[in-house]
Amino acid sequence: MSENQIERIRSTGKVPLFIDGVFVDSETSDFIELNNPATQAVIAQVPVATEAEMQRAVESAKAAFVEWRDVPTIERVRYLFKYQALLKEHQEEIAKVLSEETGKTFADAMGDVFRGIEVVEHGCGMTTHMMGETVENVARNIDTHSYVHPIGVCAGITPFNFPAMIPLWMYPLAVVCGNAFILKPSEQDPLTPTMLTELFAEAGFPKGLLQVLHGDKRQVDFLLDHPDIKAVSFVGSVPVAEHVYRRGTHNLKRVQAMAGAKNHMVVMPDADKEQVVSSLVGSSCGAAGQRCMAISVAVLVGEATRDWVDDIKTALAGIRPGAPGDDGAAYGPLINRKSRDRVRELIQGAAAEGADVVLDGSDCTVEGYPDGNWIGPTLFDNVTVDMKIYSEEIFGPALCVMHVDTLEDAIELVNSSPYGNGTSIYTRSGAAARKYQYETEVGQVGINLPIPVPAPYFSFTGSKRSFFGDLHAYGKQAVRFYTETKTVLSRWPETDVPEGPNMTISMK
Ligand code: NAD
Repeated sequence: MSENQIERIRSTGKVPLFIDGVFVDSETSDFIELNNPATQAVIAQVPVATEAEMQRAVESAKAAFVEWRDVPTIERVRYLFKYQALLKEHQEEIAKVLSEETGKTFADAMGDVFRGIEVVEHGCGMTTHMMGETVENVARNIDTHSYVHPIGVCAGITPFNFPAMIPLWMYPLAVVCGNAFILKPSEQDPLTPTMLTELFAEAGFPKGLLQVLHGDKRQVDFLLDHPDIKAVSFVGSVPVAEHVYRRGTHNLKRVQAMAGAKNHMVVMPDADKEQVVSSLVGSSCGAAGQRCMAISVAVLVGEATRDWVDDIKTALAGIRPGAPGDDGAAYGPLINRKSRDRVRELIQGAAAEGADVVLDGSDCTVEGYPDGNWIGPTLFDNVTVDMKIYSEEIFGPALCVMHVDTLEDAIELVNSSPYGNGTSIYTRSGAAARKYQYETEVGQVGINLPIPVPAPYFSFTGSKRSFFGDLHAYGKQAVRFYTETKTVLSRWPETDVPEGPNMTISMK
């Protein structure tokens, strides 16, 4: 990288903002401490951007948009191709930093970056997605065609759990559609977005198209209230998503807010037991369960699956957390102390709620890392809907098991959940899979696949309280979210003879 911002952060101890094409130290006196989740060592201080800095970012983005909207899409795409190549070239470097600040294993961190690169790759086909529609002769001698236009300055607010992938869901697509973008990344892992931004600048995008402001609720509310910001993309927890959606739409902005979840995997008695068990282990504890598409509830159908809990227990007991760099670790620490304590409390309260605590990871320790935010793999059996461990998103390496008699009961259970992010069914029966896929009220369904995250040419289609808005992230829906359609009706009469006024609404 041309100017290594990570080295700069290590020497100044402060994360810079990115305003008007330049990395700058904030003038704020208000900072948030960034800690290594495996050790609590202080990595850096994250600035809470000042009002003047945020205003400057908006002004710069507005000015950049005026020029950028005139750049042909194919030219914008060329910058994106360069960006994609740079992200690939630096994928490992980014993953190392990502792994340090989130605690993810290196392999998982590589995946985080890779899934983001895939979105950039999809954006490289934007020339086709920006095509409008044409119909000749909608009425005699009248033709109609539509154009797709960028909307202006857009903003994105991202969560801690995918610091590469989720920012990359947003600004590459918004920018290649012709917009300018202001990113407010999670204050819990701002180094990864800093690296992504540095490469964005290196790809040669004109200054001002991407601005990065750090902070918390204050910065988010500033973006939601600013009249010059036209659209807001948000990913995070349900209460904050609801706040962002309400406040943004109250201010008449376009808002898409992807939120939290509780995802069920329905296991039919005819499913392949080994496949079920290994899928449950990976999808419940991968990334320490800190994924919005993690499977947190296994719904075992029928008597024949009752004793599968023993197999799940054995498999979960066979994995362990560890610090980045520990090749035997299945996952890392939780993001911060507060999350660790919250998950611990939920686990420790589960027995009193009436659940069978089959595996208790609340007292987990990792040798050499006494201060890490560790939670061991945790398994609850005989969970019911009234328990907190079921109704709350645990966001930790914990799996709830529930038992039902029939597929219909399983569908009723899943449909009664307020969340609708993802679900899956494991079965050998096409009929059961088809019924589940059709009747279940969840935005993303996996069949013999645990985490059905769509590739970037589809969209990420969570529903119910896992999503507020109508146009979803990435894919064709993101193009519609970041653009406006203009429709032109035209007539070129062959004679100069006036037709006289038409007093009706019909087109002849
Ligand atoms: P979070 O809601 O705490 O924070 C998300 C962003 O909102 C951050 O940038 C944060 O600074 C900001 N923020 C926090 N509190 C705020 C407030 N009161 N007002 C305004 N802004 C505020 O989420 P998190 O803990 O960073 O991420 C985990 C959550 O995100 C989980 O619930 C997870 O399921 C969800 N998530 C959802 C998806 C999805 O696509 N549906 C993807 C990833 C994560």
